[in-house]
Amino acid sequence: MSATETAIASAEAHSAHNYHPLPVVVASAEGAWMTDVEGRRYLDLLAGYSALNFGHGNPRLIDAAKAQLERVTLTSRAFHHDRFADFCAQLAELCSMEMVLPMNTGAEAVETAVKTARKWGYRVKGVPDGMAKIIVASDNFHGRTTTIVSFSTDPEARADYGPYTPGFEIVPYGDLTALREAMTENTVAVLLEPIQGEAGVLVPPAGYLPGVRELTRERNVLFVADEIQSGLGRTGKTFALEHEGVVPDVYLLGKALGGGVVPVSAVVSSAEILGVFRPGEHGSTFGGNPLACAVALEVVAMLRTGEFQERAAELGDHLHRELGLLVGGGAVETVRGRGLWAGVDITPALGTGREISERLLAERVLVKDTHGSTIRIAPPLVISKEDLDWGLDRLRTVLSV
Ligand SMILES: *Cc1c(COP(=O)(O)O)cnc(C)c1O
Repeated sequence: MSATETAIASAEAHSAHNYHPLPVVVASAEGAWMTDVEGRRYLDLLAGYSALNFGHGNPRLIDAAKAQLERVTLTSRAFHHDRFADFCAQLAELCSMEMVLPMNTGAEAVETAVKTARKWGYRVKGVPDGMAKIIVASDNFHGRTTTIVSFSTDPEARADYGPYTPGFEIVPYGDLTALREAMTENTVAVLLEPIQGEAGVLVPPAGYLPGVRELTRERNVLFVADEIQSGLGRTGKTFALEHEGVVPDVYLLGKALGGGVVPVSAVVSSAEILGVFRPGEHGSTFGGNPLACAVALEVVAMLRTGEFQERAAELGDHLHRELGLLVGGGAVETVRGRGLWAGVDITPALGTGREISERLLAERVLVKDTHGSTIRIAPPLVISKEDLDWGLDRLRTVLSV
């Protein structure tokens, strides 16, 4: 057996099969490239679902992590530490908000937002106890906790995990009328992805997100934007909502915030909204730890210059122009997305998304299918134009166009 086959057999024997990874075993990575245990190099067009926006082993982020590793890594929130204040202040400033509540994973940020919205509903809006409702969209992806899968419409993500958490209303994504009709006095929040990544990089119809903003403001309902995948440069702006000129009440951030080094997530909002928490009412042992803050501070500093957003916008235009040329040629049905982020619907006759991903793997390009015959392309924002073009060439080879 090859080193790859041995590693995969061992992983399958000793780990739960809650994933079905492509048959590649990565040993090291740098920038947009990964090297497997047999020395083969692959172009990474997934970037850890946007956790690796700044590329593998980004020197600024690795240096920030190393320096912090030698000072202090964990204090718990029982004590203050000297990276915390800067992290919160600078992240709040990047978001033009006032307060930050740091957690670790994206799902924890979503859970924190659910708690925030409910507590705000009872304490500030005056919703009767136990009656708070949160409206979400169909085909959402917000994480994997029992509460979050309770409002998933994906049978794979949800089946056999009941009893489910009540208090959520699901409306079709992109349908403002349905959203308006679902709202009641007890609605405390609308929780949405500005672009639905896992659903296949679905961009809602123009005007939808401004409409959600207007409606939530009118009805005294919080607009919670899950920018965990869409935010922090991916779409060519710091936040995907900026494309529509929309400012939400609450941002949920994660993935790229940890620079591909450590898990860092955050809820970012106003003092009025995050001010609902009192000591002891919510928390996390690792949330806002010194190592996480040091890395995320560097991420915020990198985003402040706008250079990564600009890069994503320019290379994204190029990516969408090139992918657009494939539409209608028989191999590609539709391309969606914004910036360096694309959902590509391959003609089903050419194979499932999984099969296309496996053929791209053989060509040394790593992507991930979403469902059906859709693949997503989301390279690290540091990818060079030449490497991106090389990856697009491999895609054309696989599609025989
Ligand atoms: C990945 C993701 C999450 C969950 O983040 P985890 O860190 O995997 O818990 C939530 N929302 C969106 C939009 C995501 O892409």
